[in-house]
Amino acid sequence: MDILTTKADLKKWVSIQKKAQKTIGFVPTMGALHDGHISLISSSSKETDVTIVSIFVNPTQFGPAEDFEAYPRTLNSDVEKAKLAGAVAVFAPEKSEIYPQKTYFNYSIDELTNNLCGAKRKGHFEGVCQIVSKLFNLVEPQKAYFGKKDIQQCVILNRMVEEFDIPVELVLKETIREEDGLAKSSRNTYLSDKQRSIAPFIYKTLVRAHSEIVQGKSISKIIDRSKYELREAGFIVDYVEFVDASFLSEKSEVQKGESYILGIAAYLGKTRLIDNLIILT
Ligand code: AMP
Repeated sequence: MDILTTKADLKKWVSIQKKAQKTIGFVPTMGALHDGHISLISSSSKETDVTIVSIFVNPTQFGPAEDFEAYPRTLNSDVEKAKLAGAVAVFAPEKSEIYPQKTYFNYSIDELTNNLCGAKRKGHFEGVCQIVSKLFNLVEPQKAYFGKKDIQQCVILNRMVEEFDIPVELVLKETIREEDGLAKSSRNTYLSDKQRSIAPFIYKTLVRAHSEIVQGKSISKIIDRSKYELREAGFIVDYVEFVDASFLSEKSEVQKGESYILGIAAYLGKTRLIDNLIILT
């Protein structure tokens, strides 16, 4: 396993792979690896010659009141897990290696951030695009793997790759869940036992709403009831939103043959949990 911490060493590693004509699979993460990350790494190691995982808690995608400092950092066990899942290299740089100086250029995203997490976490997806595009330039992967748990991220990165003609194929994988339905997340480690027992209610709410939407029931009533029930269960609701899957604009009706996303973000104490279902009508 190669553990790389500098851009120079990463570039050397990449050029060795290119010379050997290996296809590079890339899994960008913020670490604290769980089965969601592992499924991406395993897929990549099956579908490409060499898989590299980045582990970097990217400061530019956290708001000032968010959990950047508290975010779990578990590099040694992450390296072991990545290796077991089939990765051959880890890129784990310090913040100063990635952002050595003041930055003069900013990403700006139209419309795609008007709803879901984009509306609630101002600047988050601009920070995601900044780090992912830097990593794509450094790693030069043929394929990069992302989880549909962060569905707005998937939609935005797909558009970014298309608009900027970035030569990489994005591979999007299903959300990996605990047995009770809770989407796996590095932030689940923040939950107390009581909160952990309540947390799967987000997925239950999504599943029930999904079946009602497919049956043609009123979207606004479904959303209002879902919010009410989440609050009753002990959540502070950030949003329950129904948007189209291509442009993420809010919808109140469905059209046959279209794809939609039903997204929920809700707090248990200070921990913000997100989940979504893609709805094909
Ligand atoms: P993160 O470390 O949270 O930035 O996530 C790194 C990658 O893992 C992103 O593409 C996430 O969408 C993906 N991911 C996180 N949680 C899950 C999950 N439960 N199932 C599948 N992919 C996930």
